[in-house]
Amino acid sequence: MSGRHLKSPILPGSAIGVLGSGQLGRMFAMAARRMGYRVHTYSPDEDTPTGQVADLEVTSPYDDLDAVREFASCVSAVTFEFENVPAETAAAAAECAPVRPGGDVLHIAQHRFREKTFLANAGLPVTPFRHVETFEDLEIAGLQLGLPAVLKTAGFGYDGKGQFTIHTGSELSDAWKHVGEREAVLESFIDFEREVSIVAARSEHGEFVHFGVVENRHHNHILDITIAPACVSENVKRDAIEIAHEVLEKLDVVGVLCVEFFLRRDGSLLINELAPRPHNSGHFTFDANITSQFEQQLRAVCGLPFGSVRQLAPAAMANILGEMWQQGEPDWAAAASAPNVKLHLYGKLEARPGRKMGHLTALAATPDQALKDVQAARRLLAG
Ligand code: AMP
Repeated sequence: MSGRHLKSPILPGSAIGVLGSGQLGRMFAMAARRMGYRVHTYSPDEDTPTGQVADLEVTSPYDDLDAVREFASCVSAVTFEFENVPAETAAAAAECAPVRPGGDVLHIAQHRFREKTFLANAGLPVTPFRHVETFEDLEIAGLQLGLPAVLKTAGFGYDGKGQFTIHTGSELSDAWKHVGEREAVLESFIDFEREVSIVAARSEHGEFVHFGVVENRHHNHILDITIAPACVSENVKRDAIEIAHEVLEKLDVVGVLCVEFFLRRDGSLLINELAPRPHNSGHFTFDANITSQFEQQLRAVCGLPFGSVRQLAPAAMANILGEMWQQGEPDWAAAASAPNVKLHLYGKLEARPGRKMGHLTALAATPDQALKDVQAARRLLAG
């Protein structure tokens, strides 16, 4: 689907198209505009986080394939910031411009069963899973995997949406209703020591760079905190980097991809999920690294050499969710008073609980200090 070949490199002054219009596209657009590129964004929404900083915001449904072709024919390459763009949309764009990463990467990563099957077939360590299409499948899968287990919708799920942790057989029918009685994956519940991830980039020539292993802490299934670097053994770091390299190679990714892992108590890693784009756990790179994950995405898409991934100081990132607005406007001035903390807001017009509205990044002498500083700044924000 990435049929068209790139006239590499695509140079500053050219326009890059982004399918999707959230905060990942916004930060991509900021990196691209800094380097003199133009950015066009396409999504069904208006006045979006990406649209607010792009040169052109196209508002049209993803299934309006003529509009997608028109969009793609006005740019030198297309990338995406949201993996749930329909496969037909990526294919239509690919008729008119190179799409990076290719639509086949999108097709695998947007469907949990395809993703896990791909990983298992590639011999990569993945959480034990079963495909579930009917309630009877779920009952059998529960017996085979044992409980507790987590039922997740196969497609279009993110940030814990469409997930249900099943502790006992009596919860199977509630779980089935919760996921909307549709295609799903049942996974063993993993009693992990911690969660880690690695954001990496790969060029069209197979050059691979990564931003190191970071620790992620979730709250209500949503990423809450990232600590970079993670305090894990050298063996864990080496294994995570090797696995990430293999994933990007085997998927033939040209762009950025994040691998999220469960680190088990015996030191082994299991892949939880892939995201074929910049990831929330790589937001710290915007402030802490010589080249951010967004700039590496741009460089990969344009066929430019990668920049240095060197991290200038230990960092911690804390998300700002819609809940923060429950007691009124957050105290921006108080949060801005910490000189080593950077505030990022995504320009979203409505603060809903669970919605990612922005984030804070602290740089400090140690990861622990960065964590303390970013948490303190977020508490100040809450007033
Ligand atoms: P996901 O959307 O699949 O990344 O899940 C969001 C979060 O839910 C993960 O980062 C974990 O904190 C938790 N979670 C998901 N699947 C499992 C599992 N199989 N075992 C334990 N915790 C899980």
